[in-house]
Amino acid sequence: MSADYTNLVEQVKLLEKAGIDMLHFDIMDGIFVPNFAMTQLEVKALRPLTKLPFDVHLMIKEPIKHIKLFSEAGADIITVHAEACADLAETIQEIKKYGKKAGVAINPDTPIQKMQSVLDKIDMVIIMTVNPGFGGQKCIESVLPKIKELREIIKKNNLNIDIEVDGDVKEDTVSKMAENGANLFASGTGIFKGNTIEENVKKIRENAESNLYK
Ligand code: ZN
Repeated sequence: MSADYTNLVEQVKLLEKAGIDMLHFDIMDGIFVPNFAMTQLEVKALRPLTKLPFDVHLMIKEPIKHIKLFSEAGADIITVHAEACADLAETIQEIKKYGKKAGVAINPDTPIQKMQSVLDKIDMVIIMTVNPGFGGQKCIESVLPKIKELREIIKKNNLNIDIEVDGDVKEDTVSKMAENGANLFASGTGIFKGNTIEENVKKIRENAESNLYK
């Protein structure tokens, strides 16, 4: 969503060269969040260009109706919002039906308990450190303890779940996100603004890797 839309093909090449681990797509429906961004069309168009895993973050109401669409477009991981699903377990099951990895995202004000019942069925959690809907917002620091709380639940129960942070991930915010237990970092403006993509990716990775939760 934060990339240069006039040249997405070139942007994917630059990101790949910079050594990113996956491409994160922010899909917005104008209902669950007050904005529109990306659709299955971008996922499908970019799919043949790279082997990078596609991490598709659905910020849409009742995503269960659209899992098939995004699966067929080329998603590898599909994440839905706990707040957006009438039946979260059934939605996860739908993602698994298409052989995809399943994630659950929670907004800054949503407690972990909202998705605790499906923790043994998912591969990833996205902890939003901003309220979803727009790029370029500042990290809400009070969310950081929630990352730690989740990391400890995962550890205690021997679960195999990645914790991704999404919102204001950049060179100078990523260390504290890592310290609190995140191990995946979805960066938008942090990668595309300021220095070159390559420099930004390098610094974000260094700061994350040297501060990972132990
Ligand atoms: Zn996202």
